[in-house]
Amino acid sequence: MSPNQAKPENSPHILVLGMGGTIAGLAAKPENPLQYEAGQVTVSSLLAHIESAIPEGLKLVSHQIANINSRNLTEPLLSLLGKTVQEALANNWVKGLVITHGTDTIEETGLFLQLICGKSAQELGKRIILTGAMLPANAAGADGPSNLLDAIRWASTPLDNCPGGVYAVMDGRACLAMDLSKRHPTALNAPLQSSPSSSAGLINPSWLSGVKAVQAAWNEDLPLPKGDEWPWVEILTSHAGARPQTVAQWLGSGVKGLVLAGSGMGGFHDAWQTPLAEAASQGIALVRTSRTGAGSTYPNIPEKDLEGCLASGTLTAPRARIALQLALNAAKVDKSLTWQDFFARIAVLPEIR
Ligand code: ASP
Repeated sequence: MSPNQAKPENSPHILVLGMGGTIAGLAAKPENPLQYEAGQVTVSSLLAHIESAIPEGLKLVSHQIANINSRNLTEPLLSLLGKTVQEALANNWVKGLVITHGTDTIEETGLFLQLICGKSAQELGKRIILTGAMLPANAAGADGPSNLLDAIRWASTPLDNCPGGVYAVMDGRACLAMDLSKRHPTALNAPLQSSPSSSAGLINPSWLSGVKAVQAAWNEDLPLPKGDEWPWVEILTSHAGARPQTVAQWLGSGVKGLVLAGSGMGGFHDAWQTPLAEAASQGIALVRTSRTGAGSTYPNIPEKDLEGCLASGTLTAPRARIALQLALNAAKVDKSLTWQDFFARIAVLPEIR
């Protein structure tokens, strides 16, 4: 075991959690980096690889939560990650956290962590930094080592220039984790934030004021569902030639919510009108978003919303799904509020411009 990883659990340290992904991936032939297996290398090996660049005296503890291709991320795994992060936030020895994660679903995990522990991270003055990579660990010019180093440095720098909270860093740029999403299948800068961010080393003042606005609006974390408690929510995409059966097949299935990735402003095919009205009358929660990949989905535009159906605001379909699941769960825990009350708090979080 290296000096940087030598039993520092009972002294101040940064906790590095491994979830897998390309950052921990290996290509069979390093010269063909697009053909690889994600989640092959342990997080402790990733740290050993960058050991000489880790700031002097900084103690790291690593913990492997999973080593998966994140396209296979499951809800029980999210619960395990959430519980581990919450426990680490409550541990006085942990000064900050880094999470290595696959980029395919980093978007979901980013919003999930903001909603279950964004407030406590801020109040406890700890940064949680998500990172990943687009190239496997053994590819020439692999981006994982520099992303991991950026994340470790940022998790461990004093709070004066940026408060505790849930962030992400990739390709030398930093953002709130809830703003990160993958927008290209292969490019090194594929995991883009939806809005301008800061460079990893330099916090831009207008971005920082955006962070503070989000933190002021997010004033209470949501309960963390247990692994088997996540409500079943599906995403349906509206498209040319959409059929009523796409919606109708869910009636009576046990599904608790549907996220409608609509076209344009978040409208959907007229063929869905009747089955959606039936779904709403059966108590299936409905959220409308846009498949365009950017911008906001507003209420009652282009048509008046079905009774009870909410617009997603700035949330993309994968984020709206996580938001709806946590909102449905929160309404089960706190019966004085509806899922719409909880979802509305998430959908109005300010966009950082
Ligand atoms: N499929 C990989 C994953 O999400 C992609 C990546 O990590 O960049 O695990």
